[in-house]
Amino acid sequence: MAKLNDLQTRCKPNWCPGCGNFAIQTALKNALVNLNLEPHKVCLVTGIGCGSKMTFWINTYGFNSIHGRLLPPATAIKLSNPELTVIGVGGDGDGYGIGMGHFIHAMRRNLDILYIVQNNQIYGLTKGQASPTSDKGSKSKSTPFGVIEIPVNPLALALSANATYISRGFAGELDHLTKLIEDGIKHKGFALLDVFQPCVTFNKVNTYEYFNERVKKLEDDSNYDPTNKSLAFEKCLDINENEIPIGLFYKEQRPTYSEEEVGLKDGPIVNHDISNINIQPLMDSFT
Ligand code: SF4
Repeated sequence: MAKLNDLQTRCKPNWCPGCGNFAIQTALKNALVNLNLEPHKVCLVTGIGCGSKMTFWINTYGFNSIHGRLLPPATAIKLSNPELTVIGVGGDGDGYGIGMGHFIHAMRRNLDILYIVQNNQIYGLTKGQASPTSDKGSKSKSTPFGVIEIPVNPLALALSANATYISRGFAGELDHLTKLIEDGIKHKGFALLDVFQPCVTFNKVNTYEYFNERVKKLEDDSNYDPTNKSLAFEKCLDINENEIPIGLFYKEQRPTYSEEEVGLKDGPIVNHDISNINIQPLMDSFT
């Protein structure tokens, strides 16, 4: 039986008091316990950023990669051992900036992983520069006259890249976020969970108060059908400053990359019997 205490490491998070990452970490731990996932059955893969330090503060297997590159090692880990629950965790700058190429390809491959993006609409670790999801016009250290570009819309991108589970949470809605994480883990295929994570130190616009006044759960709308792709597209593109939908935007089922990859037809690579394989001819071919 998985317990919260088992997920505790000896180190304590050093995020700023009030940072939205505390709630994301709590929700993730709660979800692992609720799903009875023992620490050795889970691998957390992170990038670089405030939130990516989570690898050190949750006692599962972990891999802290380089900036924007968490999805390639997450892919390798999942393909080597599909029995592991692989969860990627990184920020918006990490995933939607330098990591954008990996993001698109992981989704179209339908790798069976959950990708949680801590979306605080700013670069927090480097002390407050505009990120790919910063609102147009928002001022930051790197944009003193306001951001000129249109922000990345991760949900619409995910839908067009054929991700099979697309959701959005808010760090101020712990139970709702926990449920989205649980469902994302249970989903067979690529699950994106974009989470509004207030950066209390550098983002003075997209605050808890800002989101509390605007978030609305999709589950409360009985007319919304998350299996209807056209409707999901409309919802993803509906940027309304007064109402921000959170919840499950879209879900479909199709074979995962592991299920279609012929190299895995005999089961996970970690379980293959390699005692009779002679690699000498291959080595000789390099001389
Ligand atoms: Fe959190 Fe922002 Fe502080 Fe980083 S800088 S720990 S994102 S509040």
